[in-house]
Amino acid sequence: MAKKVTTKKETVEEEVQQTVRPLDVDVAVEKRLVALYTLQRVDSEIDKIKIIRGELPQAIEDLEDEIAGLETRIQNFNSEIEATNQKIAAEKSEIAEHNEMTKKYQKQQDNVRNNREFEAINKEIEYTGLQIQLCERRMKEDAAHIKELQQHIAAAELLLENRRKDLEMKKNELGDIIKETEKDEERLRAKSEEQEHFIEPRYLTAYKRIRNAARNGLAVVTIDRDACGGCFSKIPPQRQTEIKMHKKVIVCEHCGRILVDDSIADMCEI
Ligand SMILES: [Zn+2]
Repeated sequence: MAKKVTTKKETVEEEVQQTVRPLDVDVAVEKRLVALYTLQRVDSEIDKIKIIRGELPQAIEDLEDEIAGLETRIQNFNSEIEATNQKIAAEKSEIAEHNEMTKKYQKQQDNVRNNREFEAINKEIEYTGLQIQLCERRMKEDAAHIKELQQHIAAAELLLENRRKDLEMKKNELGDIIKETEKDEERLRAKSEEQEHFIEPRYLTAYKRIRNAARNGLAVVTIDRDACGGCFSKIPPQRQTEIKMHKKVIVCEHCGRILVDDSIADMCEI
């Protein structure tokens, strides 16, 4: 850098140049940009609260659904056990009947007149014996089925207990967040409403339209490393210069978001 002898007057002028904003700044546009960016900052804060809270109600709803499903499952298992127990009772009384029949046949055998009659009754006894065996096998299967159902119930109950604990935790968490953020949210909402009054309807409508269309809720963004802070597309140097001049509202050519430079961001207070 070439050395330059500076007079006192020049130094003062330089200082003034540095502290005073460029002459071609349009104060009205600048105010508009500051108002828009302030509104954006306030609305982004509200979004943050909603995001933290937004996941919990869904998680609570999912848990409630899961709990209801588990309760129904356990209920169904219990109904099946009850039905199986009734089957076992029926099989028991069937066995008792068959035993009675066997006793009756055995008595008849005492009074047979010939071998043929004796054999015929023997066949009946054999048949009832088989029936009893069949009933006993079914009872065994049913008892095993009940045991299996009881295991399913125990597993479902364990899961249910854990889910109920999760639900309680999430509900408390949500309650705490609501309590913690209620005041902030109220303040921010009031601020957002108030801020809207400083923006002309035309720009407010545009702001709301862009904000609603954007997934991240950003309608006004700063230049971040030579790129749009909303869509990260590069901004040509010439355009960046125009943005820094605060002479008009400039939007990103790619995403349509309103662009501001850091000096606007620095002027915002929320
Ligand atoms: Zn963009």
